[in-house]
Amino acid sequence: MMSSEAQLLSPVRPAKSDGTSRVPDAEVAVIGAGPYGLSAAAHLKAAGVDVRVFGRPMEFWADKMPAGMLLRSPRVASNISDPSDSHTLDAYEAAKGLVPAAPVPLETFVDYGQWFQKQLISKLDQREVAAVETTGNGFRVLLNDGISFLSKRVVVAAGIGPFQKVPEVFRSLPSAQITHCYSGFDVKSFAGQKVAVIGAGQSSLESAALLHEAGAEVELIARIPALRWIGQHPWLHNLGPISSMLYSKHDIGPAGISRLVAAPNLVRRFPLRWRDKFRTRAVRSAGSAWLPARLKNVNAKTGRFVAEARSSSSQVELKLNDGSISRVDHVILGTGYSVDISRYAFLPQAIVKQVKLFDGYPVLGSGFRSSLPGLHFVGAPAARSFGPLLYFVTGTEFSSTALTSEISKHRVAGR
Ligand SMILES: Cc1cc2nc3c(=O)[nH]c(=O)nc-3n(C[C@H](O)[C@H](O)[C@H](O)COP(=O)(O)OP(=O)(O)OC[C@H]3O[C@@H](n4cnc5c(N)ncnc54)[C@H](O)[C@@H]3O)c2cc1C
Repeated sequence: MMSSEAQLLSPVRPAKSDGTSRVPDAEVAVIGAGPYGLSAAAHLKAAGVDVRVFGRPMEFWADKMPAGMLLRSPRVASNISDPSDSHTLDAYEAAKGLVPAAPVPLETFVDYGQWFQKQLISKLDQREVAAVETTGNGFRVLLNDGISFLSKRVVVAAGIGPFQKVPEVFRSLPSAQITHCYSGFDVKSFAGQKVAVIGAGQSSLESAALLHEAGAEVELIARIPALRWIGQHPWLHNLGPISSMLYSKHDIGPAGISRLVAAPNLVRRFPLRWRDKFRTRAVRSAGSAWLPARLKNVNAKTGRFVAEARSSSSQVELKLNDGSISRVDHVILGTGYSVDISRYAFLPQAIVKQVKLFDGYPVLGSGFRSSLPGLHFVGAPAARSFGPLLYFVTGTEFSSTALTSEISKHRVAGR
């Protein structure tokens, strides 16, 4: 019997002398097998498009999130979209005989994504894409084993991994003393240590809770004057039809904005300045309603920020803006990310230069197409064009439908 990994790999035929394999050319290559890549591939496949997907299924979620984490998004907003709406989180749990849990544990979500992949995209190719080049009428996609093939279109669904934000003040610290929340770490390895967690968003607050529960002495340092929590007005969600007018099922952002966020095609028509306002308001730093109880014994220093950080032998010395000094063994950064597609190692400058950008985000038209014909971006890089829905799993419904409709339209026109 083949191993599960071997079953996932497409057959690789020998490369020709020019490096191009004899693997048949694809219509669409999807880079990344997270929620966005898997969903896009499922929709394209159902529409009869010859699509190839690259990457390890749910790799970012499996390897870069702390074990024990719970999803911030509600269950209804944690479905990966498929064309028949049949491969939901509920369907996965029913198939596995699991009792539905809310909030959704990380391990459940990773397994759900991998189940989704096995059910709908049996021909996933786990190799990494090393580079993409333009060929004149499409793209050459080079894989990390040196094999390359031609594809008419490329869909970048590569997530936020390379976009970690590291504020200037921390950049001189040795890597052994600093970890970004999005690089995956084992909370248990910090038991008995003094750890400073920087930031006030979900990932910093949840990391602080997990570290505290694992036996670390945690100090949370946040710039905002007081920590904020999501869902502070639960009654607003219980007003029947009025609540439906205020909040969408995606549940991103406060009353009213939540509705607007759920209409990405409308969001795209607003001037960039306005779009940025909705976006930043909808995803401002805040923690889930189930976190305050877990953080009540954590020392939270709000309204403060690190002005200087210095490594001194085995410890890090943090000088805060109020003049106080904290000495810790390790710093965990929950300082978020900033999209900049030039940081995707597989996209050479020659391609990035042809993509119209606003501050690192590609400017996208309908069907998630960039200004370079045939190149599409889904997930977080699409959020500046279509709004904050695209930062979350729940945005897969809109993105995969719009992408598939755009690609199908051009196939018909091409014929
Ligand atoms: C701590 C944290 C908590 C979060 N919680 C939630 C939540 O509760 N709900 C929610 O909706 N969202 C949450 N998010 C946001 C979440 O990251 C996105 O919703 C989701 O991962 C977007 O899916 P994606 O497919 O765009 O990206 P990813 O899940 O990152 O998938 C992209 C994949 O592409 C792969 N890849 C990259 N480069 C290549 C390459 N060259 N070749 C092959 N593969 C490649 C990566 O390995 C990765 O697995 C959270 C994020 C973080 C960091």
